[in-house]
Amino acid sequence: MVNSQEPTEIVVIGSGASGAAATWRLAKDGFRVVCLEQGPWVVPTEYPVTRANWEELVRTSWAYHPNIRQTHADYTVNDDDSAVKVLMYNAVGGSTIHWTAHVPRFHPSDFRVKTLDGVADDWPLTYWDLEPFYDENDVMMGCSGIIGDPANPERSPRQMPPIPLGPDGERMAKAFDRLGWHWWPSDSHVNSEPYRGREACNNCGPLGWGCSRRAKASTDATYLPEAIEHGAEVRANSTVFEIVTGSDGKAKGVNYYNEQSEACFQSARAVIVACNGIGTPRMLLHSASDSHPAGLANASGLVGKNLMFHVYAGASGVFPKGEEPVYKGPLANIIMSQEFYETDPTRDFVRGYTFQMGRSSGPASTAIGGVPWGQGHHGSFDARFGNMNGLGVIGEDLPIETNRVTLDSERKDRFGIPAPRVEYKLDDNSKRLLSHGVKQAHTALLEAGAVEVIENAHSVNGGWHLMGTARMGDDPERSVVDANCQSHDADNLFVIDGSVFVTGGGVNPTPTIQALALRTADYIKRERDDLRG
Ligand SMILES: Cc1cc2nc3c(=O)[nH]c(=O)nc-3n(C[C@H](O)[C@H](O)[C@H](O)COP(=O)(O)OP(=O)(O)OC[C@H]3O[C@@H](n4cnc5c(N)ncnc54)[C@H](O)[C@@H]3O)c2cc1C
Repeated sequence: MVNSQEPTEIVVIGSGASGAAATWRLAKDGFRVVCLEQGPWVVPTEYPVTRANWEELVRTSWAYHPNIRQTHADYTVNDDDSAVKVLMYNAVGGSTIHWTAHVPRFHPSDFRVKTLDGVADDWPLTYWDLEPFYDENDVMMGCSGIIGDPANPERSPRQMPPIPLGPDGERMAKAFDRLGWHWWPSDSHVNSEPYRGREACNNCGPLGWGCSRRAKASTDATYLPEAIEHGAEVRANSTVFEIVTGSDGKAKGVNYYNEQSEACFQSARAVIVACNGIGTPRMLLHSASDSHPAGLANASGLVGKNLMFHVYAGASGVFPKGEEPVYKGPLANIIMSQEFYETDPTRDFVRGYTFQMGRSSGPASTAIGGVPWGQGHHGSFDARFGNMNGLGVIGEDLPIETNRVTLDSERKDRFGIPAPRVEYKLDDNSKRLLSHGVKQAHTALLEAGAVEVIENAHSVNGGWHLMGTARMGDDPERSVVDANCQSHDADNLFVIDGSVFVTGGGVNPTPTIQALALRTADYIKRERDDLRG
């Protein structure tokens, strides 16, 4: 028996970075919004940071990889044929529960790679179209940082001063200075001061697995409480099974399973999909119907194709022992270098990458992460623990149709929805880019005084940025949504997560994802009065 819920104006599927932002903005603008989220609200005191055994928890029930974690809300991802493993978190707040909160913006050039470099496609919008929404997002999430970065356009004053660089950040910055390379304090959605009811970071624990002080912005603590104040309803533990369409091809609402696993129908005048670059193509492909036989919004055949992750590699330096081991607090959002960001015709690859400085792992991860066993273990552990800095290379991977998400023919979740099957290979441009990045990282770490440098040629467990699988564009034959994130095939269906990226840039994607979500909500407010009522 299907329980029919009271009709609403807008249903948002997913409450992560993008879904929460759109839910807030639409509710603020007077729309009736229901946000359906398959995971639960997470209680901040339950985060691993509060437990002595946090390093065990982050390898089991709090692992980045959903296949290892296997919570009630997680669905299996078949990434057996992918050179990069898919990482995400499924709960209210989505992957912002687990994220590092390093928030650089795209460069203006990232929207024009076809024009500039003759590869991939240009976006149907520019950096300047997104700029006001980047700013709006910074106010809501709270940005620690400092303006004046010469590698990026001038931007509005940050809400808080930058995260302190610390002795290791200063050491790395001086090395970049000596090499004559760009560096800048990272923009971070981690509070360096108390901000909008959330405390400042006090470096109490590993920031990557949730912050119990709420110093790290996650959307369950930023957008959603205010969205609820504006009248939005966030229905947790509600797994959407399919988007329902009528004979006119338009979305009518969604079928979902509620907290009691009962089948329900939620009627709506518009549906917004915000399930991330893997969950969204899975949802669209699974919502095939008579009017959309190849999957919803898939007349172009591009849903699921052109998956991008960013290619990730780097090097770690072991430095002379400091006064205190550094492995807590902000870990990879202290400083960045964009010396090699833009295409340089003297190099053997197009586009480029960002260096993100990282800090040491906890004691257990250090002990099992490369320190030799047997004789010499203790000496080597002692030299490394808390004394390491990494330079991660976040490289732009270009869209390729054979890198893709399809529906798995065998694996299913507990409601019978097929698992996403992910196929992904690195192309030659990515390989050359990474090899350049690792070499330069090595040079910079030695310049900073590292006594040993360990190279990582390609990080398999680096699938934290999920992009490209429902790309935007003006041409319905070559894209899934338009510049307003509206489906070419159904004008009351929107996709607002990283799926819509045309290209991936060489930076972490979330500010761009959230700016696009806010811009879509703004478009709906300005142009779509037909969705009210
Ligand atoms: C370990 C880690 C570190 C990261 N660090 C950074 C960083 O420093 N900077 C940065 O910019 N980005 C970072 N990211 C990436 C960032 O978290 C994502 O880009 C961002 O959260 C994506 O937002 P989203 O809204 O597209 O998807 P998500 O935040 O993943 O949210 C999708 C939501 O949809 C829900 N959902 C999916 N399917 C269904 C369904 N059928 N029914 C109901 N709900 C559903 C999911 O449960 C989830 O809550 C990191 C990610 C990880 C995993």
